[in-house]
Amino acid sequence: MHGCIFCKIGKGEIPSTKLYEDELVLAFLDISPINYGHLLVIPKEHHTSASTIPEATAGRMFTVSARLGVALKRALNADGYNFHLADGTCAGQVVMHAHLHVIPRHADDGFHWNWRQKKYDSDDQRDKIAAKIIERLKL
Ligand code: 5GP
Ligand code: ZN
Repeated sequence: MHGCIFCKIGKGEIPSTKLYEDELVLAFLDISPINYGHLLVIPKEHHTSASTIPEATAGRMFTVSARLGVALKRALNADGYNFHLADGTCAGQVVMHAHLHVIPRHADDGFHWNWRQKKYDSDDQRDKIAAKIIERLKL
């Protein structure tokens, strides 16, 4: 897509530190990492939202991300890794070309997700929410 920074990275029009590339996906280091080795896996085709990525490409993104997570553990002595995907501005998406973050984690890295845990008011409220989601699910 014209003007998209990740499309330009995908085509090699602007530089990146590439880690993996095939016909469907590209992985490269994030320019401002949470931890060193933090990387991004993108579809080569432009998709703003992860929800429109074809299944073969989305599957490849997940497999490549998980294998790169293992590589991060082996190469950087990481204890684990996080996947993160922001879909939509309110979810924190800044670059409007879908991408999966793979973030190496160390036991003492001092990074914490600001993860709250609400409670449902009742079983009925929880079941109604589930029913609404199921009704709108299209695969
Ligand atoms: P988002 O908030 O959209 O999920 O994350 C966008 C990510 O892209 C950020 O972590 C940011 O550091 C990274 N990023 C933005 N511009 C560039 C760039 O030009 N090159 C690379 N390698 N990463 C970028
Ligand atoms: Zn793009």
